[in-house]
Amino acid sequence: MTRSPLLELTDISVAFAQKAGWFGDGRGTIYALAHVSLTLDAGETLALVGESGSGKTTLGHVIAGLRSPDAGAVMLRGRPIDKAARRDIQLIFQDPFSALDPRMTVAALVEEPLRIQQVGSSKERRAKVARLIDKVGLPQDALNRYPHEFSGGQRQRIAIARALAPDPILIVADEPLSALDASVQSGIVNLLRQFQRQRGLSYLFISHDLGVVNHLADRVAVLYLGRLVEIASTARLFKQPAHPYTAALLDAVPRIRRGGRRATANLNGEMPNPLAPPSGCAFHPRCPRAADICRKEIPVLAPVNGEATQLAACHFAGAA
Ligand code: SF4
Repeated sequence: MTRSPLLELTDISVAFAQKAGWFGDGRGTIYALAHVSLTLDAGETLALVGESGSGKTTLGHVIAGLRSPDAGAVMLRGRPIDKAARRDIQLIFQDPFSALDPRMTVAALVEEPLRIQQVGSSKERRAKVARLIDKVGLPQDALNRYPHEFSGGQRQRIAIARALAPDPILIVADEPLSALDASVQSGIVNLLRQFQRQRGLSYLFISHDLGVVNHLADRVAVLYLGRLVEIASTARLFKQPAHPYTAALLDAVPRIRRGGRRATANLNGEMPNPLAPPSGCAFHPRCPRAADICRKEIPVLAPVNGEATQLAACHFAGAA
């Protein structure tokens, strides 16, 4: 019997109506996500990368239940996600300060998700909150203080404690390090890894920092203009990217390349207007390998050289 993955997304599409035209008097549709399918296993960290506007955050919101897809299915442990399953998925945001209500004490903030879900007695909840505060490395006197009394790194620790309170099995972390100084980022990364080891947690880790992704993720999914263009194990993707867009992203940070073939040149030009995406492969106006077929046909995600651990959507993926 085959085991179903922890999380399975099938053919997810999300569209936004948008004003269009010179005077904003027309209407257009932006496909923030188009036909995205992927899986995430228990205990796995899957990173989502891509430029701003690639659809990373929208996909995170779909998984966390903040937004319903216009098409496609989200399954958790082989079942559609219902209200009860929502607490199994928690979010950590980029900016812990805006994510934490400044009028609430740390104790009230961490307890809130438990209180809303009516988990345990008040005494049990308070005991759990105290344990969590300890586990994220904050002193017990933090419980009666307010978010503004803490540094950015400490606030992210409070946000992590709050996310862990309902005992989730999956955490969607949307750029959780990007508002923090480099000196405190490693402490947060170590904390996330520690909880993953202890609890078997899975992470969907949205990041623009490929150095951190290389360090933290088991697999990496690359989005471009709402489409999944490559997904592979971290080791394989960093060593031998199959999609020219992935290669260009990696070439922008050469210190993290670990040898192997350099697939293409640097990333040129801007992300296209999502209201009028390019025909065929949406990356073709920026791709140094673009050929006629790229302007006509959308490439499908397929194994690269028969390798099941690396899929890419490029007409020439795997070609020397
Ligand atoms: Fe470049 Fe063509 Fe591949 Fe798109 S399909 S990434 S344009 S080579």
